[in-house]
Amino acid sequence: MNILITGGAGFIGSYLAEHLLSEGHQVRVIDDLSTGRKENIAHLEDKDNFLFIEGSILNYKLMLKYVSECDHIYHLAAAVGVKYIVEHPLESLITNVRGTEIALELAYVFRKKIFLASSSEVYGKNGKQAFKETDDRVLGPVSISRWGYAFSKGLDEFLAMGYFRSDRLPVVIGRLFNICGPRQSPHYGMVIPRFVEQALKNEPITVYGDGSQVRSFTFVLDAVEAMKRLMNEPKSEGEIVNIGSSESIVILELAKKIKEYTNSSSEIKFIPYIDVYGPDFEDMLCRRADIAKMQSLINFSPKVKLDDMLKSVINEYRNGSR
Ligand code: UDP
Repeated sequence: MNILITGGAGFIGSYLAEHLLSEGHQVRVIDDLSTGRKENIAHLEDKDNFLFIEGSILNYKLMLKYVSECDHIYHLAAAVGVKYIVEHPLESLITNVRGTEIALELAYVFRKKIFLASSSEVYGKNGKQAFKETDDRVLGPVSISRWGYAFSKGLDEFLAMGYFRSDRLPVVIGRLFNICGPRQSPHYGMVIPRFVEQALKNEPITVYGDGSQVRSFTFVLDAVEAMKRLMNEPKSEGEIVNIGSSESIVILELAKKIKEYTNSSSEIKFIPYIDVYGPDFEDMLCRRADIAKMQSLINFSPKVKLDDMLKSVINEYRNGSR
């Protein structure tokens, strides 16, 4: 198959590209390198079946050419990371809304199956213990930029479902829960590479708020496997599916684990959210995935435990492969 990955030079997209190439597919990646990096795909560039196109998903002509030529699309290009979104609110909205509109519209015109990478962020501050796909979404005020991201991803999902409902366009929507692993950049706010880097430099580990917030982390290769299986499962068409792990951790505990695994002398420092993101910010206290739907659709559960994820990221830094 000829597979187009938008955002394929990003952290998740680069693993997906590698995986699909290993299965013998032709892979084409469109990425504007805004948050993606050439280094993520450097090891793929000499492969015959691989083509990297540097360009934006907002470039309609470029997208038209590559969507028309492919069989399947994985649409991963999006604004990424809480820090990035708070610092670039308008760009983030335009990429997420206009970019996805273009990808879906062209998938519709050329009748191509499309996977939409959405986010657990869409649940917002729903106070439930574990989020199910049919749960209410609880978003805060427009004055807080972060909710714009949740809103834009929700709109992307509505658009995709609109194409499915009105004309049976084969779409699959995956809500990704805190994906992590080697190659993830610490620059856009992601907690694991940040804590690992801080710990290895024996600098303060910066826990935001009181550290009681909860997250479920998912190893990138498990997420890639789930995305691919969902895309290849006809019953997933027109479905929204959580892609996450059922294991969860409190952020302060995460900081302590990383300090221990790196034998670091770092202090654990609590930083008020206001000092990091300014006054107009809200965090989600608890974000856990209910993965029953993913399990029943594709008979798959994430294999990699949090401890092993942390060790693989720590090894990456220690080996100097960053
Ligand atoms: N976090 C933290 N210190 C950091 C970066 C993040 O305590 O240096 C917290 C953040 O407040 C959030 C959690 O770690 O509660 C996960 O943050 P991340 O930005 O990785 O993803 P999110 O789940 O917020 O999208």
